[in-house]
Amino acid sequence: MPNFSVPDKVFLDACRQFPTPFHLYDEQGIRNRARLLNKAFSWCCDFMEYYAIKALPNPAILRILKEEGCGVDCSSDTELMLARACGFSGREIMFSANAMPEGEFDMAQELGAYINLDDITHVEILKNHGGVPETVSMRYNPGGDFCIGTEIMGNPGDAKFGCTYDQLVEGFTALKALGARKFGIHAFLSSNNTDNGYYPALAKILFTTARDIARETGLELAFINLSGGVGIPYHPDDEETDIMKVGQDVRQAYEAVFPQGGVAIKAELGRWMTGPEGWLVTKAIHHKDTYKHYIGVDACAADLMRPAMYGAYHHITVCGKGEVPCDHCYDMTGSLCENNDKFCVDRMLPAIEKGDIVVIHDTGAHGHAMGYNYNGRLRSAEVLLCRDGSFRLIRRGESIRDYFATLDVDEDFHKFCP
Ligand SMILES: *Cc1c(COP(=O)(O)O)cnc(C)c1O
Repeated sequence: MPNFSVPDKVFLDACRQFPTPFHLYDEQGIRNRARLLNKAFSWCCDFMEYYAIKALPNPAILRILKEEGCGVDCSSDTELMLARACGFSGREIMFSANAMPEGEFDMAQELGAYINLDDITHVEILKNHGGVPETVSMRYNPGGDFCIGTEIMGNPGDAKFGCTYDQLVEGFTALKALGARKFGIHAFLSSNNTDNGYYPALAKILFTTARDIARETGLELAFINLSGGVGIPYHPDDEETDIMKVGQDVRQAYEAVFPQGGVAIKAELGRWMTGPEGWLVTKAIHHKDTYKHYIGVDACAADLMRPAMYGAYHHITVCGKGEVPCDHCYDMTGSLCENNDKFCVDRMLPAIEKGDIVVIHDTGAHGHAMGYNYNGRLRSAEVLLCRDGSFRLIRRGESIRDYFATLDVDEDFHKFCP
């Protein structure tokens, strides 16, 4: 089930300090998850989590994760700049980009990041942008369907990411000729997967593939990157991933293929690390009864796009109404002129009054970060619930100036952006 560790009183206290809507993140919760992950993989030499910056690109969060021993996974120049500004450097950075402008290798190389090539054509590009480093990684796509037992968990054959096996061999052979001595291998085959078998099944594929590539190319295997994709329980009926068990099952697969050890494991979890430690706090501002019952809130898809984009479920609670029966059927909407701007459809909730504080759960990853400005809506603030119980504004809400900033090329700029 979703994370109910933060009581309503905390959300209400936060609302006295900050206008709604805002995302609230729990510092202690994030630290606890980082510690649990590191514990689950403490059996492996040189395990490192590279937090996927795109999930929650806020420096306050990245510094917390750095303190917990995590690195960062970047896919663009701006993410690299954020990483650099937060003090990450060298082997604390994984650069896992695809179809990016070729020049983006330059900053990654200047920072000394691990480079993870998405495509075989990147070998040549890397050569011309900083040269081939001693250790270099490639992203694998085994094609077809990805199954655990009889269940299809993803379809890599339709995914734009990664290289075929033959391309890996060809790529690593070329990289070796250009000076590489060690290699890493990476794959991301299923997203938001709470099955405890996901990482172990992926690990098995990567371990044997990497062992074969080491034999075929004569390169030394440095690391296996299990990437992201471990899911979280958005729905009350969803099971939580048992990360300790996942760690143990990956260990079993590891020891079967690498009895002598010496191969590092990397992860790039985003959602699992911070997803359950964030909440979008919003206020009910409108009631509408037509063919259905609608509650309008002051947040919209500009603050959290997942329900509109994927029909994703996010659990919703109403502050102070935890004990009130859920006997009203609502669609909860934002203000965009888009019918998919709904945080829930036909959801049974307690009776909601104008002014009620509504909490949308599990927004700590791919939440604020996916926001946009449709209809001139401005993205919300981000607030950190600190370990001592105080609140800290870690990103202000967007202002009208922010919205108009890129129109400074217009002759009437001063009229709408005074
Ligand atoms: C998005 C992404 C991740 C993180 O994915 P989650 O589903 O948040 O765990 C990790 N690695 C890469 C390369 C990604 O693009």
